[in-house]
Amino acid sequence: MTDQIQPYWQNYVNGKWIDGGAGRLRVDNPGTGEALAEMALADAADIDAGVKAAMACHASGVLTAMRPVERGRMVNRMGTYLLQNLEQIATVLTLESGKPYWEAVIEVEGSARYFEYYGNQAETLEGRSIPLGENYLDFTIYEPFGVSAQIIPWNYPVEMTARGIAAALATGNACVVKTPELDPLSCHWLARAAEDAGMPDGALNIMCGYGHEAGAALAGHPDIGNVVFTGSVETGIKVATAAAANVVPAVLELGGKSAAIVMPDADLDNFMDSVRWGIFYNAGQVCSAMSRVIAHRDVHDEIVARCVALAESLSVGPGIERRDFGANMGAMISDGQRDRAEGLVAGAERDGAQIVTGGHRLNTPGAFLAPTVLKDVTPDMHISGTEVFGPVLSVMKTDTEDQALEIANGTEYGLVGGIFTADIDAAHRAARHIRAGQIFINEWFAGGVETPFGGFGKSGYGREKGREALWNYLQTKNIAYRTR
Ligand code: NAD
Repeated sequence: MTDQIQPYWQNYVNGKWIDGGAGRLRVDNPGTGEALAEMALADAADIDAGVKAAMACHASGVLTAMRPVERGRMVNRMGTYLLQNLEQIATVLTLESGKPYWEAVIEVEGSARYFEYYGNQAETLEGRSIPLGENYLDFTIYEPFGVSAQIIPWNYPVEMTARGIAAALATGNACVVKTPELDPLSCHWLARAAEDAGMPDGALNIMCGYGHEAGAALAGHPDIGNVVFTGSVETGIKVATAAAANVVPAVLELGGKSAAIVMPDADLDNFMDSVRWGIFYNAGQVCSAMSRVIAHRDVHDEIVARCVALAESLSVGPGIERRDFGANMGAMISDGQRDRAEGLVAGAERDGAQIVTGGHRLNTPGAFLAPTVLKDVTPDMHISGTEVFGPVLSVMKTDTEDQALEIANGTEYGLVGGIFTADIDAAHRAARHIRAGQIFINEWFAGGVETPFGGFGKSGYGREKGREALWNYLQTKNIAYRTR
């Protein structure tokens, strides 16, 4: 399979494919541990060239002068291009990220959906007129910032990039994207999509580079108009600090330690479906993963038993061999992430949690961690407040709804949260009291491109997805006119 992959991939700046000033980076296949390809590595000078190209594109007015419907059509067309090349993109994404092929297909389809959604929104943004009395004509308009900087994590490289650039381009911004070091290859097709859609040179620049070098150069570049960052809290703070030094707005989509509360009246078959997606999809490397289950005492033991059965039913191995949706899971992104997750599980056991299944690496090449269920996890344990970012479910026991809500809110994060219950009042109480940007009732990951997403607390600020995300890319201008 790997011999189908081109051996070397370049960066894309100002409509041209270029080498990296920092040389090349080896990209591995985490499903086998073997080298997959080489990627051009951008340095600070490459980032500067990308920002300059984006500035020139913006200054030329080519994106802003056109009627929004035309821009929307180009954005839409980028999604169509991804779907036309679905198999190729999903194959490379599978090989570089380790996820099952069918999950990569969902990621590419989800990416196309962002272009469809934001392409369709382009012509819906309208200003308004504000009455100031008969001697004035006052109106408010919305203008793009100019250059939007996007810094992308490895867990959904294509989809996270699509999420940001679709909204940025639809609103008339030019983009400079810094892709993740571990799986940058499939983002190649986003540049191809822009070319295919007729986007002008400089509208979309995509480069891989090290975070501390290319990422830092982009976040701290004085000529960017905004920065949208998805990744860890630690890096998010650095990015926001760099942006603040230039008085540039930042959107931060950071991590989470999200909890599902399960009440005795919950439909457990339905809940188990959410567990499958909530913690084992993408091997748990999902910022909004259901990493904690807070189970009422009456259903706790049954839930633990069913979660163990689910975890043990998953066939774990190279994603490229797992082509169809089913009881399977791929590799984690790297040995380093796998080792970290394994270490956190071992720490939880030392703290008194019980590993009911999994908790160990597989005895095969590749970054595999057995699907893991922990029970007897208590709020004081390190693992209760720490994002594992792996296929590790912590089950906690509770006696009351109030106690469950307190535990759910007991971390510094606040990305998503949820409750499984047949009691509509309990559902609404939970929705009110859980401190998180999105609440799921009786289905984890309910929602879609249309629903705003982002965190409370250390999970970040600003919103992606939905119409809210459009406001990340626009600045308000008021024009007041005194009539004669
Ligand atoms: P990370 O913070 O290590 O890296 C994210 C990106 O930032 C990468 O492209 C990296 O190269 C870059 N970077 C690193 N140092 C930088 C610096 N000093 N300046 C600028 N850029 C820099 O995160 P990761 O390991 O790639 O991703 C995992 C984390 O991302 C998890 O914590 C996860 O929860 C979070 N995440 C959040 C969401 C969300 O939407 N909320 C989505 C996906 C991932």
